[in-house]
Amino acid sequence: MVTTLAAAAAAQQPTHHWAIVLHGGAGVIERATMNPKTDAEYRASLTQAIEAGAAVLDKGGSSLDAIEAAIRILEDNPLFNAGRGADFAADGKNELDAAIMDGSNLDAGAVADVTRTRHPISLARAVMEKSPHVFLVGLGADEFSKYAGLEQVDPSYFFTERRWQSLVKQLTKEGLPIPPRPVGAPAPPPVPVAEIEPPDAHKFGTVGVVALDRAGNIAAGTSTGGTQAKRWGRVGDSPIIGAGTYASNQSCAVSATGTGEYFIRLTVAREVCSLVEYKGMTLQQAADHVIHKELTDLHGDGGVIAIAPDGQMAWSFNTPGMYRAKLAEGGKLQVGIYNDEP
Ligand code: ASP
Repeated sequence: MVTTLAAAAAAQQPTHHWAIVLHGGAGVIERATMNPKTDAEYRASLTQAIEAGAAVLDKGGSSLDAIEAAIRILEDNPLFNAGRGADFAADGKNELDAAIMDGSNLDAGAVADVTRTRHPISLARAVMEKSPHVFLVGLGADEFSKYAGLEQVDPSYFFTERRWQSLVKQLTKEGLPIPPRPVGAPAPPPVPVAEIEPPDAHKFGTVGVVALDRAGNIAAGTSTGGTQAKRWGRVGDSPIIGAGTYASNQSCAVSATGTGEYFIRLTVAREVCSLVEYKGMTLQQAADHVIHKELTDLHGDGGVIAIAPDGQMAWSFNTPGMYRAKLAEGGKLQVGIYNDEP
């Protein structure tokens, strides 16, 4: 009898349609200067990652699992500024930041300036699930990573020639010293690597995913190498809960990308959700207000992706482009790069 009642109650639970939105960074990414092969590579990479996340959701997996699966793929992809392919700090090191947040219970985990974990998003999740803390940084976070059993790599694993040459170019322009080539990096090529993106593009390649699962729970995750040539232990918005990453089933889940200094001061991710929660804005209105009004008024640049428990999906950015994709159960995959695309 009890079992029958429980089964009946379970059958009455609304099953949500899953949905997922992903970004791979925003900035001066323009059709006119993008070569078609790179354009196609980015679209294929975004598709591969979102399909991995969607497959998890489709099997009834949690939004957290979908986010982690999609971000791990992007962290392994050198096209993006996260994990392998991360930007370099001015001292020639890759210092990685990541955060994840569970909208069902406001649990969160974040790490900054980690140097040896292959998948920083999984480390952020381990902080959330296996430590009593929310935010670990630097050596302590690296130490916890080993303790939590995450895959360790030599720091040279994150090295890519393209990002290194880009750092050298920027430091030269700023009149700053060029650090030695990282130990363990491959020998320099005889000729400079081809620019994958336009030279001096003010761009980002941070990655982020927000998702809604069949249980109706939303979550958000973000992973980044931060901004190129960052100095003095700089940390951006990505790992800061409420700034670059936020999720609450009461309102929405958001992942941001852009110049973190502005996103921190505006607590962008929480601000979008507050507008939804307290002002009754739609998700798109809230995202547009924060990006096109608040961020733009402060002269900040970048964008957000967002999702709500009722299935609303949104993205908004004030830069010429943002690598992005979205997919909802039963819907059509949408992938975009430039601001003239839907
Ligand atoms: N928001 C990141 C940071 O400031 C950079 C990015 O989005 O690419 O660290």
